[in-house]
Amino acid sequence: MQLPADTRIFGAMKRSFGMVLLALAAAVSPMSGCAPERPPNIVLIVIDTLRADHLSHYGYGRPTAPALDGFAETATLFTDCTSPAPWTVPSVASVMTGLHPARHRLHRMGFALPEDLVTVAEVLRDGGWQTAAVSFNPYIRPDFGFDQGFDLFEDHRGKFGASPDVAEMVHWVDTWLTEDPPQPFFLYLQPMNVHGPYKVPKEARRVLLGRPPSRRFKYFGEPMRAIMRKGRLDLREQVDPAYVESLIDQYDTAVRYTTDQVARIFALLSSRGLFDNTLIILTADHGEELFDHGGFNHGTSMHRELLHVPLYVKMPGQREASQISTPVSLLDLFPTILDVAGLQSRPHVDGRSMLPVLDDPSSAAGLDPRSLVYQCKWQKHFVGSAISSGRFKLVKIISNYERTSHGWRLYDVRSDPGEHIDLAENQSEVLERLRREMDRAISQNEEPQGPKPEDRRHLLATDHERLRALGYVE
Ligand SMILES: [Zn+2]
Repeated sequence: MQLPADTRIFGAMKRSFGMVLLALAAAVSPMSGCAPERPPNIVLIVIDTLRADHLSHYGYGRPTAPALDGFAETATLFTDCTSPAPWTVPSVASVMTGLHPARHRLHRMGFALPEDLVTVAEVLRDGGWQTAAVSFNPYIRPDFGFDQGFDLFEDHRGKFGASPDVAEMVHWVDTWLTEDPPQPFFLYLQPMNVHGPYKVPKEARRVLLGRPPSRRFKYFGEPMRAIMRKGRLDLREQVDPAYVESLIDQYDTAVRYTTDQVARIFALLSSRGLFDNTLIILTADHGEELFDHGGFNHGTSMHRELLHVPLYVKMPGQREASQISTPVSLLDLFPTILDVAGLQSRPHVDGRSMLPVLDDPSSAAGLDPRSLVYQCKWQKHFVGSAISSGRFKLVKIISNYERTSHGWRLYDVRSDPGEHIDLAENQSEVLERLRREMDRAISQNEEPQGPKPEDRRHLLATDHERLRALGYVE
């Protein structure tokens, strides 16, 4: 996307922002038939590591989300939503702030979201919303500044081993709702079962998708570890297809299990009469590579399996399904949420509100086309950027786990949506045009004087075992 460079939101603006009197107008959606009289509750669910194309509503062959069918029948499905970064920390920072990674600059594990940035939770809390979050991702927690704006923030809790099960999150939500929190509320949820090692309870694995893993199956075992950590690309040929198949089985089972649990959250809202007047957004922070391009995990490339995320938006009062294929970004969530909430005053964000197309899906065709820019600076995984513009996507690799340095990849995503045919050599004019556009967008938005993420890596020391289990560290 074109990132405007003329806005500075930092420092003083944040301080004054909380003093702005925010209008508390109820959301009005023509789709609802009748406008709700109360400001809506807002539930934002970010399923960690859920790639869009493994969901049945996105055309996947397996029934990975049957429990969400009813929800999908009352929601708008965005078929082309991407994350501005292929891994958790910069992506969730963008969801929270509406800012492109080039602007918030939170690219590293153990660094904190700067206090000077304005989060969507802060704006909602200032506007009168009760704000609560539950995140089971070890990097999305108060230690790293992600609790800004939340009255209540429940973090991952586990010290060792993998993340808590999403069922614990459902239990937490049930208890919280039973206590009758003040309305309107904003609830943020980030479950982790779909993140490697794709854990689900044993009983569930037996009855869900695919075959249970063999005893020899090990997430991030060899040769996965050697390929991803040591750049041993020669070992790709030794990856057993049965292993990849089993990996996909475990991933899909975790997706199925998680969507079943998310449906329970929707049922809890319904049983308390809260579902109808709630804006519900269901999405993911990034996808997952399942050997699509010879790799695993995420944060390792700019390919579609990592950037394409699901996005369902159920407006307050919405009763019918709708589908929008216009490219949108997770950056768009911030302005959309505030528009639906009826909050007029807000900081600068890089996204654009989806409210007009949610109200009138036919207006999507008239939107200005825009380019979307992606950035990743995860050392030893992938350092570089990408831009997608119409039928082309250009990737700039500064370094990556494959030991590529300063390389370019160009894909015609209309004829080659899987991004397997590199056109960088024979489409030099397109490459040059997109290169200029991408570099301009990123350099205009890097803020050398802006807020700097603070190094809090010392807080990770006690979590080493847990992070190792998740594949983040050796
Ligand atoms: Zn993530």
